[in-house]
Amino acid sequence: MLDYQPSPDLLKNKVILVTGAGDGIGRQAALSYGAHGATVILLGKTVKKLEAVYDELLAQGSPEPAIIPLDLQGATKQNYQDMTATVRQQFGRLDGVLFNAGQLGALGPFEMIGEDEWDQVMQVNLKSQFLMTQALLPLLKDSKPASIVFTSSGVGRQGRAYWGSYAISKFATEGMMQVLAAELADTGVRANCINPGATRTHMRARAFPAEAPSSLRSPADIMGPYLYLMGSDSETVNGRSLDAQTDRVSGQPRA
Ligand code: NDP
Repeated sequence: MLDYQPSPDLLKNKVILVTGAGDGIGRQAALSYGAHGATVILLGKTVKKLEAVYDELLAQGSPEPAIIPLDLQGATKQNYQDMTATVRQQFGRLDGVLFNAGQLGALGPFEMIGEDEWDQVMQVNLKSQFLMTQALLPLLKDSKPASIVFTSSGVGRQGRAYWGSYAISKFATEGMMQVLAAELADTGVRANCINPGATRTHMRARAFPAEAPSSLRSPADIMGPYLYLMGSDSETVNGRSLDAQTDRVSGQPRA
């Protein structure tokens, strides 16, 4: 998947929403989608970061993006419905959504997971995706073929000690994708997951502070599946969970 060679205009005339677009993998996905012709809607918490990505997109000659400042922690069903109405009004369509924003939460023993901590991680990593998908589905169905891409993790497929609420939220994300994909079969909207694998970002550095960042792939290195699942080459792919990096074992450095 890392060696996927997309055509330069793979996403021409497509409108794609990316959550957590201000930093890390989401920032790179926004830039890569824009570089392949998409109009990107940048959703995230820190407006300054989103503005910087907006400027980068314009500087690289991509279609003019849009910014949706939204903290997924506090966002309500109404916020997502209003957001959908704005996207419909401004762009008239939505061809893809990358659910990328995520929160690591505290790593530690299961017995020590605080209720507030659990709720916060589940709100950002899971419930926001449920509410946003419900709100956006009518627009996605009107824009078919359309693609919903969720972000999983190695700890969302095989449980690992001390990864508590984060790992459980990723298992649930895989489950939500599967339920949705089964329901959406034959609607022209597909749902899939990507497990990015160890990638050089702030989240990874927080989880593995002793690790040398230079031993990791950068977000730019792993864009193959992110582009593949948004473009026409994957139109028949539904209900799959792809590994961006197949040459490493989850939880261990790259061989
Ligand atoms: P980063 O921490 O670098 O970036 C996370 C992004 O999510 C930021 O743009 C952040 O915005 C946004 N975000 C976090 N909380 C909220 C919120 N409450 N509301 C809106 N936006 C929010 O993480 P990565 O780029 O590493 O991770 C991206 C995805 O990939 C995540 O889902 C993560 O779980 C997954 N992943 C990453 C791996 C890795 O090795 N990096 C491995 C496996 C999975 P802001 O900067 O404004 O806070």
